[in-house]
Amino acid sequence: MGDANIAIPLNEPYLPAFKKYEKYLEKMYANKWLTNGGPLLQEFALRLQDYLDVPYVVLTSNGTAALQLAYRLYNLQGNVVTTPFSFIATCNSADWVGLKVKFADIDPDNLNISPAAIEKSIDENTTAIVPVHTYGNPCDVKNIKKLADKYKLKIIYDAAHAFGIKRHKRSILNQGHASAISFHATKLFHCIEGGALIVNNREDYQRAQNMINFGIDAQKGGISYTGFNGKMSEAHAAMGLAMLDDIDKVLEKRLEHYHLYKQLLGDAVAYPIWDKSSTQNAGYFPVLFEDKKQRDSVYEALSRKNIQSRAYFSPSLNSLNHFTKNQSFDCPVSEIMVDRVLCLPLFYVLKPTGIKQICTIIKSTLQSQSLRLKEAI
Ligand SMILES: *Cc1c(COP(=O)(O)O)cnc(C)c1O
Repeated sequence: MGDANIAIPLNEPYLPAFKKYEKYLEKMYANKWLTNGGPLLQEFALRLQDYLDVPYVVLTSNGTAALQLAYRLYNLQGNVVTTPFSFIATCNSADWVGLKVKFADIDPDNLNISPAAIEKSIDENTTAIVPVHTYGNPCDVKNIKKLADKYKLKIIYDAAHAFGIKRHKRSILNQGHASAISFHATKLFHCIEGGALIVNNREDYQRAQNMINFGIDAQKGGISYTGFNGKMSEAHAAMGLAMLDDIDKVLEKRLEHYHLYKQLLGDAVAYPIWDKSSTQNAGYFPVLFEDKKQRDSVYEALSRKNIQSRAYFSPSLNSLNHFTKNQSFDCPVSEIMVDRVLCLPLFYVLKPTGIKQICTIIKSTLQSQSLRLKEAI
């Protein structure tokens, strides 16, 4: 972001017209109400609830706080089973609140946590499953629910990438006991820093609201349980409202970019297989190469033209030192996929000519590699 030597960055945050943001900030000034559930936050929560088609939205300071809130809301103990193929916040958020983290391998087709692997990881101390809708692609929610019912576990979805995703025409955020979403600047919908916990009943909602406000009980008065400061401010809610005004236009443009990539790359590369009953939000454009050598050569060819791309996600989180004291996790699929995956630039102001350039570089790199391979044989 903002580096003059970079021809095409991996990501660039969408910025609504400054005048629009200012209009909301002016309200904040007029209200002289800066945080603690002010009018802008209330308006943002209602509009989001409506836009996302979810019953209860608890706005938080970021997505990590939303995950941590969920773990404490259900008073989770012992260990949680999660995916090694994700951003570090998924598992570090659990570690930070004192939960043991167990990793279950992913499905090679969609790169989401595999229900069969989850079942193998569950032990008598497991209290929750923390799956990620990787790149916004819905998990196998049906079989994950079956496991949770069978072993009496909570399901906390890390839905950081799943803004606006519908499965069978219903929001994916309604799945599980709760879903945490991130509104960080790098996400397709953002409010600079921010996040939300989506819950499905009034009791959870009220308790969660109290917990992000130090545990002060808004219903009974006094302090009924532990809490922290996980609130979203009015200035962040103002950005969220300005983003919501523009989000349909943003999604439409991102989808155009997504389809152009697919059209130009065709079957030159492989892709994670998207859930057939679900919509696409074009939050990311991940491609899969045959192996690390091929992936790295494409990464380097793009770098030489000052085009950013990222092995997202890497490393496989089960390999991190602080999770492997006295134990190891069997995640061969994740360990292979972190070497094969590459995320390509995808953001609102990306130009079709940029996408064409990227696809040409990828295809010619792959062609010259397969030529060299033939010559060697
Ligand atoms: C971004 C992200 C988070 C963390 O969200 P923040 O708002 O940055 O705290 C958690 N999980 C995943 C999968 C993410 O991509």
